[in-house]
Amino acid sequence: VVTPEGKIIDSRKVATPGQLPEFGEVLNQTVSTLIDSSGPVSAIGIACKGIICPETTEVEILPGAFRFLEGIRLTDLLSPQAGGKVPVFADNDARVALVGEHLWGAARGRSNAIMVTLGSGLGGAILADGQLVRGARGVAGHLGHITMDPDGPLCVCGNRGCLETYFSALSIEAEALAAMHRGCESEVLSPNASCASIFKAHENGDPVAGAIVSRAIRYLAAGLAGLCHALDPEVVIMGGEISRAGSVLFEPVQEEMWRRTRRLLGRKVPLVPPEVEDPSGILGAAALACTAHNTD
Ligand SMILES: [Zn+2]
Repeated sequence: VVTPEGKIIDSRKVATPGQLPEFGEVLNQTVSTLIDSSGPVSAIGIACKGIICPETTEVEILPGAFRFLEGIRLTDLLSPQAGGKVPVFADNDARVALVGEHLWGAARGRSNAIMVTLGSGLGGAILADGQLVRGARGVAGHLGHITMDPDGPLCVCGNRGCLETYFSALSIEAEALAAMHRGCESEVLSPNASCASIFKAHENGDPVAGAIVSRAIRYLAAGLAGLCHALDPEVVIMGGEISRAGSVLFEPVQEEMWRRTRRLLGRKVPLVPPEVEDPSGILGAAALACTAHNTD
């Protein structure tokens, strides 16, 4: 339960059931409990992975463990008792994170912003001319799947050489594993090193980790530079698990991004961390509900 100013006044965390009937039950229970304890709400926002139709709240594509939600309208899962009477809004989790930043955070008062989320993959969202970009079928914003090299590594999306195959936790870890497999020697890295530990090793001066991180950063910065040229944003927001690496990541990405874009853009686009403290997507979903409810 979130106030119009973006303050969380109540929240619950529950394990996500792996089957549809239980999923609906747990969702309804959770919403009912929150409404019972904190009073009525004027709208409900849902942030969900995959491709969600914002008009109908239908989950169109959701690969992985929660595929059972495909074809389901999230609003239909909420019974009238559990708040089904108020308007329900839903969208992709990366996109609602940017809605949260637009309403209460780093993109506040801006009309043009790019957000990237650096985790096991590379997600993103675009705000262009004041509008959240959804595209013809809601797929827009998959910034991890812009092509960096036509002959690059095969990507989970079916394309080759996507940005995500160069910069993501899985790709950075795969690069370390491949380096170890080829016999590169590092005193600190092991073949199953995590992305966070590779960044740490780089910070501590390990040359193998340094080479891996520098390459990943160059691709990320080059990708962001291309996006800046295409979209001319006022700000680029960089969040997600890997962004916690801090200045060891932000500074070189910013530098390389500026170097590549200064001439055409004629200005330095700031690269900033998210301002909305929202690890579980609650505030993004609430921001979506606030924004959509107010414009309805
Ligand atoms: Zn891809």
